[in-house]
Amino acid sequence: MSGGSGMDGGPRSVIVVGAGIVGLSTAWFLQERGVDVTVVDRSGVAAGASWGNAGWVSPALTAPLNSPSVLREGLRALADPAAPLHIPVRADTALARFLLRFAANCRPSAWERAVRANAILNDEAIETFDVLVSNGVDAPVTDTSLAVAFRDAGHAELFLTELNHLRSTGQQLHVETLTGAALHEQVPLASSNVAAVVNVSGQRFVDPGRFTHALGFAVAERGATMLSGEVCRVSGSRDGALLELRDRELLRGDAVVLATGAWLPALTGRRIRVGLQAGRGYSFTVPVDRALPGPVYLPEARVACTPYRGGLRVAGTMEFRRPSEPLAQRRIDAIIASATPLLDGVRWTERTDAWVGPRPVTDDGKPLIGQLASAMYVAGGHGMWGLAHGPATGRLLAEQIVTGKQPEAVRPFDPLRGRGRATPTEVLTLPL
Ligand SMILES: Cc1cc2nc3c(=O)[nH]c(=O)nc-3n(C[C@H](O)[C@H](O)[C@H](O)COP(=O)(O)OP(=O)(O)OC[C@H]3O[C@@H](n4cnc5c(N)ncnc54)[C@H](O)[C@@H]3O)c2cc1C
Repeated sequence: MSGGSGMDGGPRSVIVVGAGIVGLSTAWFLQERGVDVTVVDRSGVAAGASWGNAGWVSPALTAPLNSPSVLREGLRALADPAAPLHIPVRADTALARFLLRFAANCRPSAWERAVRANAILNDEAIETFDVLVSNGVDAPVTDTSLAVAFRDAGHAELFLTELNHLRSTGQQLHVETLTGAALHEQVPLASSNVAAVVNVSGQRFVDPGRFTHALGFAVAERGATMLSGEVCRVSGSRDGALLELRDRELLRGDAVVLATGAWLPALTGRRIRVGLQAGRGYSFTVPVDRALPGPVYLPEARVACTPYRGGLRVAGTMEFRRPSEPLAQRRIDAIIASATPLLDGVRWTERTDAWVGPRPVTDDGKPLIGQLASAMYVAGGHGMWGLAHGPATGRLLAEQIVTGKQPEAVRPFDPLRGRGRATPTEVLTLPL
């Protein structure tokens, strides 16, 4: 399991690589169990996808990406560069391998397996946010209903059928369909093109950057060492974990957790068989003439809107490119073009905060949570729902690290699924 051992046999000290929502949640829940934590990130807290996302903690809607409808949309997207799902046509064998496996996992049976596996993260999502906030993480978590707004009332019916399907897998859901005045009360920015709104109650939203920074502050306040540095080599053995930073500084701990989001493959190499690809999303902030009481999703445009600092954060696009490539203005233009017909009173030209961030998307719709080798653990790959599932992930992984036992609920997320367990002296290396 690990080099040193604490009172209950688990590691005394753990290094967490990655200061996004997933790494910091793991750090917080490890501290809760008495572990000394060091957090290291090359760019500081919330430098990756955890900053500019839509901020939804919405267990009712957190279906995995690998659904049959996404496969159909993906095929259409190949021919349309402005589509919400963007797959660049270029010679990239890693991307091609990922897409083939992703497509194979879009079968209804594979999707349903992912839905059932992810249920534990949905069940614990809201409660784990409450645990963090009631124990000192100083950021608001707002109780809300989510309005899903449709141009075509027939699509609203189809969506209700899908929700009923999710309900049959055990998902708790409270929904009502709104039209006319009730629709405009719930979505005051809805244009006359919106025919129906499905309102899903009992959800939450946060300002994700603010929340992640508050979590980082809480982890530091509780005694963590917060380091700045790029980890480029990691090894784990029965003697513990050894990390090499780009400036050649060495860090040692009883164990390490790799929580580097869409950059995970750079540290894990080929040890993980599940494909992980950056599904880059964009967001920006716009002023509005009428405030929204809660988030709105426009499924026909695949755009999410969230009340944000007096205006609206608008988020969308799934672009399969390398995680650190620069922002592409045409993707922001495509989001605006698809959302404009559905919303009135949004001052698009006054937008600020244009941002791109990489969702860590796995090819089977399930995250990677668990042990990779001796003294080495992974937490990531949550795709579209890493904010909502981050704290629950941290709690489950901290339990596994400290007790040395894999909780039954995280077995489907085993990072070594599909291949054998590593030998205790396994060394994973990022080429320098
Ligand atoms: C447009 C958009 C909207 C979204 N909306 C939602 C939503 O409403 N709800 C939801 O639940 N999820 C949402 N998501 C998904 C969510 O943002 C991600 O799943 C989540 O933030 C992933 O968190 P993470 O901690 O795994 O990774 P990240 O937040 O990306 O953190 C990884 C960290 O690792 C660091 N790092 C990487 N490599 C190294 C290295 N070698 N050494 C040191 N540090 C390193 C990076 O600097 C970074 O800080 C959205 C995503 C996007 C893009």
